Amino acid sequence: MKLVFATNNLNKLEEIKKILDKSIILKSLSDINCHEEIPETGNTLEINAFQKSKYIFDKYKLNCFADDTGLEIDALNGEPGVYSARYAGEEKDASKNMKKVLKKLNGIDNRKARFRTVISLILDGKEFQFEGIVNGKIELKASGVKGFGYDPIFTPDGFNQTFAEMDLATKNKISHRGKAVQKLVEFINKL
Ligand code: IMP
Repeated sequence: MKLVFATNNLNKLEEIKKILDKSIILKSLSDINCHEEIPETGNTLEINAFQKSKYIFDKYKLNCFADDTGLEIDALNGEPGVYSARYAGEEKDASKNMKKVLKKLNGIDNRKARFRTVISLILDGKEFQFEGIVNGKIELKASGVKGFGYDPIFTPDGFNQTFAEMDLATKNKISHRGKAVQKLVEFINKL
């Protein structure tokens, strides 16, 4: 089956290609010559993921899926959440975003957080959603150079390494996106 993954993020594309069943031919946005910015104006992960998958389905008439992820920190009432990419400004700068989180959590003992991913799949015009969650905590400082985004400050429960210190295969097995993609793949395999 051919599926478009509505992303320009090469890290995510690589992560998902490694998990996806080989029977699924994954196309990126550039593979389908989609180079414009897809609107993401919702105030929940669910709305944003659907907005992106619907945009591609409506414009290109191709089966597709889109994901939206947020880092939800308990002591910050779920922030940065749906605003994770732009938390410290429009330039989407990962180190500025991490600095802002660490500053806001300065002196706060409750470091509990989770990454949550919502995938919106559109098959022949019908939408299906899949959620993946990984619980963990925010460290006092950044460690590690792998991955992207908030990886250097997030340690998943049951591990003593941040996502940025783990190899990609380990992260994929336990990550928010990994879990959501597993659900997506199980669903597709049952069709
Ligand atoms: P997106 O919706 O997947 O583009 O994610 C929004 C933002 O959440 C990204 O810009 C990153 O800052 C952050 N994010 C998403 N996935 C991850 C991850 O696996 N590790 C660290 N940060 C992530």
